[in-house]
Amino acid sequence: MKSAPFEHYEPSTVGEATSLLESLDDPTILAGGQSLVPMLRFRLANPDVVVDINGIDSLDYLHEDDGYLKLGALARHADVEESDLIAERYGSFADTAPLVADPQIRNRGTVVGSVAQADPKGDWGSVLLAHEGEVVAHGPDGDRTIPADEFFLLPYDTTLSEDELITEVRVPTPEPNEGSAYHKLKRKTGDYAMAGVGARLVMDDDGVIETAGIGMTAVDITNARATDAEDLLEGERPSADLFEEAGELASEQSNPESDEHGGAAYKERMVNVLTQRALGDAAERAGTVKRRVTQ
Ligand SMILES: Cc1cc2nc3c(=O)[nH]c(=O)nc-3n(C[C@H](O)[C@H](O)[C@H](O)COP(=O)(O)OP(=O)(O)OC[C@H]3O[C@@H](n4cnc5c(N)ncnc54)[C@H](O)[C@@H]3O)c2cc1C
Repeated sequence: MKSAPFEHYEPSTVGEATSLLESLDDPTILAGGQSLVPMLRFRLANPDVVVDINGIDSLDYLHEDDGYLKLGALARHADVEESDLIAERYGSFADTAPLVADPQIRNRGTVVGSVAQADPKGDWGSVLLAHEGEVVAHGPDGDRTIPADEFFLLPYDTTLSEDELITEVRVPTPEPNEGSAYHKLKRKTGDYAMAGVGARLVMDDDGVIETAGIGMTAVDITNARATDAEDLLEGERPSADLFEEAGELASEQSNPESDEHGGAAYKERMVNVLTQRALGDAAERAGTVKRRVTQ
């Protein structure tokens, strides 16, 4: 099926884009189009106006700056996958990028577009939550920074206003003893997650966990944090027993639904397993654990 007709605007600056968003009736932003275009073709989205941000060169970046890893709104999944900076310093990002969809989609789809889409099955939201990341939005009143914790409301619904454009997502640059990881269970290559877990651990110099972040994919109505498990971990030394207990708590805090890919009880069990694996890799990458601690 073809999409219904719509007007197409191509701003070349963030200012132009936000003026369009403010002045036009019910505009929809187009980034990589990997979620939007299928929705247009199936007529699940029928906007009168599309504001295509691909000509805004200033949004095409992925770099460290001012204490953050910053991904501009035109940073594609493939940019993350191919980045040496990511490979060297951001384990969870390096794990996630090649697990999103397939290469064609990763070449066009953006990390910001994926976060904006707010699909509970989207992988990047969980990574952002695990890192206590932020979404930067530009609107008529200038920039607004939204903690990832406050961004996701419902499936496909966020705290972003209609006249705001997300310019970047960002996470703090790693502490000296920090490690992160992402694990995902899917039926086959290219599929969305049946369940996914991102973990970030920051250790102190004695090898005690100072900060723990855990984000879960596809097992609640939005990407969700496993706060009970995070609380358990902080102040403790990493061990297989501790991570098993954390996996159990994450599983208890998840709310998966049964579907054609698996029953709720199975997915809960998988949250437990994936949490242990993600924590094990995060601890190892933090450098204070020399060997995998998962079973
Ligand atoms: C077959 C298939 C498999 C997939 N598998 C996965 C998967 O395994 N894991 C996963 O996480 N995702 C998966 N996806 C989803 C897809 O990768 C992402 O949702 C997509 O990349 C979103 O980014 P985009 O740039 O293409 O956004 P678009 O499709 O252009 O936009 C998506 C939504 O975000 C809004 N938006 C985009 N950019 C901005 C912005 N800067 N500010 C405000 N709003 C904005 C748009 O208006 C639209 O509502 C899959 C998609 C397909 C079609």
